[in-house]
Amino acid sequence: MKEKLSVKKNERYTLDIIDLSYEGMGVAKIDGYPLFIENALPGERVEVLVVKVGNKFGYGKVEKWLTESPDRQPLKDNRLLRTGIAPLAHLNYEQQLLFKQKQVENVMSKIAKMPEVDILPTIPMENPVGYRNKAQIPVRRMDGRLATGFYKKNSHELVEIEDYYIQDPAIDEAIKRVRDILQRFQVRGYNEAKNEGQIRHIIIRRGHYSHEMMVVLVTRKEKFFKGKEIASIIHEELPEVVSVIQNINEEKTNVILGDKEKVLYGRSYIEDQLLGKTYRISSKSFYQVNTEQTEKLYQTAIEFAALQKEDTVIDAYSGIGTIGLSLADKVKEVYGMELVPEAIEDAQFNALTNKIENAHYEVGKAETVMKKWQDKGVKPSVIVVDPPRKGLDARFIASAIDMAPAKLVYISCNPATFARDAKLFAESGYEVKKVQPVDLFPQTHHVELVALLAPKG
Ligand code: SAH
Repeated sequence: MKEKLSVKKNERYTLDIIDLSYEGMGVAKIDGYPLFIENALPGERVEVLVVKVGNKFGYGKVEKWLTESPDRQPLKDNRLLRTGIAPLAHLNYEQQLLFKQKQVENVMSKIAKMPEVDILPTIPMENPVGYRNKAQIPVRRMDGRLATGFYKKNSHELVEIEDYYIQDPAIDEAIKRVRDILQRFQVRGYNEAKNEGQIRHIIIRRGHYSHEMMVVLVTRKEKFFKGKEIASIIHEELPEVVSVIQNINEEKTNVILGDKEKVLYGRSYIEDQLLGKTYRISSKSFYQVNTEQTEKLYQTAIEFAALQKEDTVIDAYSGIGTIGLSLADKVKEVYGMELVPEAIEDAQFNALTNKIENAHYEVGKAETVMKKWQDKGVKPSVIVVDPPRKGLDARFIASAIDMAPAKLVYISCNPATFARDAKLFAESGYEVKKVQPVDLFPQTHHVELVALLAPKG
C-alpha cells in the first residue's frame, strides 16, 4: 500500500514496458504499481511523465523512447491514438493479429477455464486501412466555424481530424463536404455545455459494393431552417448520396441519436451487398462496419455450422437478417429475432428481395422470444447467436440448452462475455470445439470471433 503513494503526478521515470493492455496501452510497473502508457510497446524502454495517479493504477505519457520495439510501425498521426480512433496504429499488422489471438487465449483460460481450447490464428484483412463503412462525427463550433473530428479519449474535447485512416476515404471526403455545406447555410454547431446550437453529429454510411450513401444530420431542434434545401445540395455535390435524414435529439445527453427522424431527401435506407445478396439498411439498423471482413466472418460461421438440407436454424440477434439470409438456401427453415423493429422490417424486406421464403422474423428481446419458441416446441438443429458486447442473457442460454441443438455457432464482439457464456454452456454439456478470431477492426484493439459449440463427445 505504501508503494502506490510513492508514485506522484508530474514525476518522471525511466521504465520498461512489460505488456500491452487489452485497450492497446503499454503497461509498466513502479514497485508493483501499474502505469498505463499510450504509444508504448512491450520491450521498449521509455522516459515517462506521470500524468494521472489513481488508487490502483495510473497513466503516463512517453517523453522519450530510449529503445524502440521491432514491432513498431510508423504512426501516421498521433491523433489516431489520442482520440482512440486507432489505438493499435503504432503496432505492425502481424503483431496486431497475434495480439488479438492472445486476447482470446487469455479469456478462454482465465474466464472460461478452458486453457485446452485451440484458438486459431486471426483471419487478417488484406489491406487493413480505410475499411469502415460508417462514421459518426461530432460537430462543434470553433472560432465561429463548424469543426468536425473525434473526441479526445475519455473526454468530450473535440480534436479536429480530416483523415480518419480507418474509414472509407469517400466517407472522409463526404464529411468535409457536408460540414462545408452546413457552414454555408450558417447552421450553428452544437455547444454541449450549454445544450445550444443546432447540428450535433454527422453520420455517414456508404455501401461497400453499392457506393450508395446515407447522410444523417443529428439536430437539437426539430425546426431545421432550409433543411430540405441543404439536403438537396448535399445530393447535388455528392451524387452517391441517395438518402438524407434528419434525426432529432433535444436532450442533453451522450447518446448520439434521438428517437424522431425525418427524411429530408430521397429514401429512408441504402442498399448494399453481402455474399451476393442485397440488403436494405435503414438508419437505425445495425450493419457490420467492415464489409470485406464480415463476409469472411459469415463464411466461417456457415462452415462451422456444416449445414444440411433438413436443418432448422435460429439466427438470434439477427439485425437486418444478413447471417440467416446468407445461409437460408442451404437449410429447411430459418427463424430470426431482434430487438430493433426497423431492423426486423429490413430483414423481412430483405428476405423478399432475395426471394427467400423460408426465413421468419420476430421483434423482441432474444431471451423473451427464445423462451416463447421453446414453449412452442421449436427444435432448431443449429443456433447462431451474434449478441452485442454484453453477451447472452442467462435465460437465453437456458432456453437454447433446452432446445438441444446439435450445433451452436457463437459470433462475439467481446471475448470476455463469450468466455463467460461458454462456461455456462459447458456446465450443461456443451463443449467449445473451435474458436476463430476474425479481424473486423484492424488498427484497433477490438476483437471479433466465431466459435463452434456442440454436445460433448
Ligand atoms: N447479426 C447481425 C446483427 C448483430 S449486432 C449482423 O451480423 O449484422 C447485434 C444485434 O442485436 C443488433 O442488431 C441489436 O439491435 C440487437 N440486440 C441487442 N440487444 C438485443 C436483445 N436483448 N435481444 C435481441 N436483439 C438485441
